[in-house]
Amino acid sequence: MASMRKDGRLRRLLDWLSRRIRAAAGTNGRQRGTGPADPLRHLSGQALAEAVTDPLMIFDRAGRLVHANAAAHAAFDGLRNGMSLPLRFRTPEMQATLDALTSGAEASAAIEYSERLPVERAYRVSATMIGQGSEFGVLVFKDQSEARRIDRMRSDFIANASHELRTPLSSIAGFIETLRGPARDDTASRDRFLAIMQDQTDRMARLIDDLLSLSRLETKPYLRPGTRFDLKATLDAVIASMAPLAQENGVTIECHLGHGQLVLPGDEDEMFQVFQNLIENACKYGRTGGRVVISSAEGTQTPGPTVDVTVRDFGAGIAEQDIPRLTERFYRVEAETSRAQKGTGLGLAIVKHILTRHRAWLSISSEPGKGAAFTVHLPAK
Ligand code: ADP
Repeated sequence: MASMRKDGRLRRLLDWLSRRIRAAAGTNGRQRGTGPADPLRHLSGQALAEAVTDPLMIFDRAGRLVHANAAAHAAFDGLRNGMSLPLRFRTPEMQATLDALTSGAEASAAIEYSERLPVERAYRVSATMIGQGSEFGVLVFKDQSEARRIDRMRSDFIANASHELRTPLSSIAGFIETLRGPARDDTASRDRFLAIMQDQTDRMARLIDDLLSLSRLETKPYLRPGTRFDLKATLDAVIASMAPLAQENGVTIECHLGHGQLVLPGDEDEMFQVFQNLIENACKYGRTGGRVVISSAEGTQTPGPTVDVTVRDFGAGIAEQDIPRLTERFYRVEAETSRAQKGTGLGLAIVKHILTRHRAWLSISSEPGKGAAFTVHLPAK
């Protein structure tokens, strides 16, 4: 008797254990022998839709919205469940695609869709019918606006660079023609033309150097950790190298640093280039002020302590509307003055690029008629 009772208890215990094991493995009696159950069976379509970071919409065979995820609500105004998608997305291509899918003519499609308001946005949309009997369709919108903006910037940049190189090149070609033709035996003109041609080739060389600097900076976006430079020694070296230009423009350079030696994180050559470009601009564009003053101060703005180095001139200054655009590639307030000053329009773009790599930044202030101040904010740690 005792052993029978024990057998019964043991069987019940084994039954209970096997039920627990089956539950833990996600199997039940019915599925025994057919392999494990679908591990996603408890996952709702809604939960999946929310996990997608692109705008996603589920619609029924009548083209009505069944569910839009949070990204879709953020991207498109006025989405309501039950609304007609062909009425909401009114481009002929979108309407034809929704028609083809809901009528069963096609199972999937990929199209372009763009909206102009509230801001211009371009999407690549993939549309697919899903579910048993394809009773639902899914639209996923991939935002292409950023990629298009970068493409546009790249082609603008190439157009600008080609234009900048073509101008001196055409001028050289013109002089070569003149020298081979009408000015062949005119010694005085020949010397004058050769001098201009030399200027133009120098200009092309400067442009190519600046373009190469930019492209080198683009290929190494992060600064090697642990690189440091001596601020005072770098500024002294820049000022010494600028002496001939300062003299040519009748400008004196003063340097008032509020500290002695200060070693900061940063690449010495790149920092040399930053201050060289700023001091060169101050000498060229602020020459009427006769003075360029370099000073430093401790910065306490967010995100942390900085050493702020300001290059100030007392020349014509810059109009307020031009200030935000100065660091754009090839942007000049007056193109002719810049060219006459041997500018390429890339100096401040290079400065901005280097500073970004150093997690540093530039601020510009100016009172037209009284001069301009360019401040480099260098993280102190
Ligand atoms: P550039 O090679 O033409 O000097 P930059 O990128 O260095 O190119 O400067 C862009 C433009 O910003 C210049 O063409 C000039 O119009 C303006 N600019 C720069 N620095 C000064 C300054 N200190 N005072 C007035 N204008 C300036």
